[in-house]
Amino acid sequence: MEPNADKLRGLRITSLDDEEEDDEPELPHEPLPAAAAAAEDYEDYDDDEEEEPEVMIGLLEEPKRPGLLLRHLFPSKAGGIPAWLDPVNLPSGNSSCCGFCGEPLQFVLQIYAPIGDAAAFHRTLFVFMCPSMACLHRDQHEQWTRKQGNPCRSVKIFRCQLPRSNAFYSSEPPKHNNSDKPLCAEAALCHWCGTWKGDKICGSCKKSRYCSEKHQAMHWRSGHKNDCLQIINSSEASSSVLPAVGKVPARTSWPEYQITIDHEAASDSDSNDESKSKSLVMQKHGKPDDLMQSWMDQFEADADNQCWAYFQERISRAPQQVLRYCRESNAKPLWALSAGRPSSADIPSCPYCKGPLCYEFQIMPQLLYFFGVKNEPDSLDWATIVVYTCQGSCDQNISYKEEFAWVQLYPTTITRP
Ligand SMILES: [Zn+2]
Ligand SMILES: [Zn+2]
Ligand SMILES: [Zn+2]
Ligand SMILES: [Zn+2]
Repeated sequence: MEPNADKLRGLRITSLDDEEEDDEPELPHEPLPAAAAAAEDYEDYDDDEEEEPEVMIGLLEEPKRPGLLLRHLFPSKAGGIPAWLDPVNLPSGNSSCCGFCGEPLQFVLQIYAPIGDAAAFHRTLFVFMCPSMACLHRDQHEQWTRKQGNPCRSVKIFRCQLPRSNAFYSSEPPKHNNSDKPLCAEAALCHWCGTWKGDKICGSCKKSRYCSEKHQAMHWRSGHKNDCLQIINSSEASSSVLPAVGKVPARTSWPEYQITIDHEAASDSDSNDESKSKSLVMQKHGKPDDLMQSWMDQFEADADNQCWAYFQERISRAPQQVLRYCRESNAKPLWALSAGRPSSADIPSCPYCKGPLCYEFQIMPQLLYFFGVKNEPDSLDWATIVVYTCQGSCDQNISYKEEFAWVQLYPTTITRP
């Protein structure tokens, strides 16, 4: 009945319960069971009913200690700055910018999801987005009119993978005893966002680096104007004035968390208490607002009732979930609404290998709460962001391959033409 149970049992899932004593070192970056799940053979499968694939859910925790979320420990994390898997060949140029306002994208989260393939021994998916809701509206509009291959997006997903033997990391797993180190230095990053390559250099001090003119201007206004002179005047101590890599001012990024992966609990009869599960879903931004209530009322009156009730039941099993992951071939995203879902024709093929894309994970709106995004009319908001990735996880020359995100907004904000 549970074809995946054996493989999944082999995985160590980080428990949210701190009280539990554990002999093993802390592993916040447990790989997701993509390969195990996808390659599963249903030989003993004698049930006519379609078995529901097991979903892994992502929960957020404050990082347990500094240094736990660095790239050579292969973390899954949200907020802060990315822990680039390939630290040298980063996405740059238009790839790193919002397709609408042109500003550098902000790091949302990354998940470590190797698939057991030789070329993808390490595999991490990165999510970036423009923090502007106006851009997300334009992205949403484009989503419905877009022809395949149109790269104009305010949400971008990158897939990076490496073989076990590579130039950046030891082929042996991290020991988690402070002896772990990456094998080579990373590309020089922007001193303002700490996220993208710092290809532009301050013309005066020739030290401070930026990904964009915007970040140079922001750094200048926030103090580099004074520091720059200091750097010019002092011959040696130049770097002490510039923030160290990985120490980016919190105001330029969302708060940092580690993502712990857990199995979704089986259906819980307690969650049949409808008013209880409803209130859990509505805590997205702290408390329900009138708008949310009104669309819910309207919603419950129509045929979408079933979709919504199912969504509530699934979310109520772990109301804090920010991510749902399942790469099995019969996995489906969990939609809150029946409106605003893509048809199969809306999902493009892989621009690199031309093969099909398949659903891999989705981001839930609870993330906005953890990021401290306010519940105001122009604030960033979504019902879900569903990520489709190359089924073959193809391995072309480019290090960061762009995958496809489908954004579902709430009904009041859907702008279908
Ligand atoms: Zn934008
Ligand atoms: Zn920057
Ligand atoms: Zn300068
Ligand atoms: Zn592909």
